[in-house]
Amino acid sequence: MKPEIIVTGKIFSRTQEKLDQAFTCHKMYEAAEHAAFLKELAPRVRALATFGPAGADAALMDALPKLELISNFGVGVDAIDLAAAKQRRIIVTNTPDVLNECVADTALALVLNTLRMFPQSERFLRAGDWGARGAYPLTTSLGGKVLGVLGLGRIGEAIARRALACGMQIRYHNRSKKDVAWPYDPDPVALAKNSDVLLMATPGGAETSKLVNARVLDALGPEGYVVNIARGSVIDEPVLLRYLKEKRIAGAGLDVFDDEPKINPEWFTVENAVLFPHVGSATVETRTAMGDLQVENLRLHFAGKPVRTRVV
Ligand code: NAP
Repeated sequence: MKPEIIVTGKIFSRTQEKLDQAFTCHKMYEAAEHAAFLKELAPRVRALATFGPAGADAALMDALPKLELISNFGVGVDAIDLAAAKQRRIIVTNTPDVLNECVADTALALVLNTLRMFPQSERFLRAGDWGARGAYPLTTSLGGKVLGVLGLGRIGEAIARRALACGMQIRYHNRSKKDVAWPYDPDPVALAKNSDVLLMATPGGAETSKLVNARVLDALGPEGYVVNIARGSVIDEPVLLRYLKEKRIAGAGLDVFDDEPKINPEWFTVENAVLFPHVGSATVETRTAMGDLQVENLRLHFAGKPVRTRVV
């Protein structure tokens, strides 16, 4: 008999196949009535497989009194109520490290595209404006600029390594200073003041909510750029929109937003922003590795062994 698990949201198809091989999967996102679905499964289900935004709240945990493990697909666990899980002695796992390089590639692409305006210049060519309206206007070099990394963790360090190869200098702010050669700033305002490009790579959640606000953007100034690969919640989005329109900062590169995927339509008209639809880790290779780690944590738990990547 395969153990029974609940899958909260639609998951990468290759991972779903591997989950189906090892477990009997009950898809919550296909259930017409969640309460009845959970009530029927409550006596038998000991684990959940969840995917980034689907998360797991306290009410879901309460509906499943036999729950022992929440295995997340993704490193960010801001959509899971960790305090509630801890209180109920439910283990939470995530998928760190296997996505660092891919997410860092996306972050570097955002830095490059934001400063050099490659997407805008391509639109200029496709519109037939090249020649007709002269050459595309000059943009900004990366070389010699200071990249301020807000959240120099696993992904932040992979981004810093790439930025060094482009001739950028690195500074950072975390809550605690790290054993690295790069200069440390004591708070986000100081980091913004000392940086040309402020890049966010912290976790989301209450602790980092609106960490980048009007004060931080004022410190960055009209020549400064913002790049967000973390979570939409880390920046005060209405303020960012206003600052971009009023040219109080030079530009922004964003992979993450408030209310994804139903983002504020005002974004569609902001020319000095490069916008990606949350594609940080979105390659076949990386999503496969993330799924394999998610499945491995589930398998280990049902084999009575410690999980590999425990958060709480
Ligand atoms: P990590 O290794 O835990 O790094 C997070 C860093 O943020 C740490 O250095 C931490 O240092 C710092 N930090 C945490 N809270 C902070 C605060 N309040 N103020 C300043 N710094 C703070 O995590 P990771 O694996 O690099 O992942 C980082 C995040 O990237 C994820 O949680 C997720 O939100 C995001 N992400 C996005 C995508 C995407 O597709 N766009 C993909 C993967 C991950 P201290 O603890 O010393 O403060």
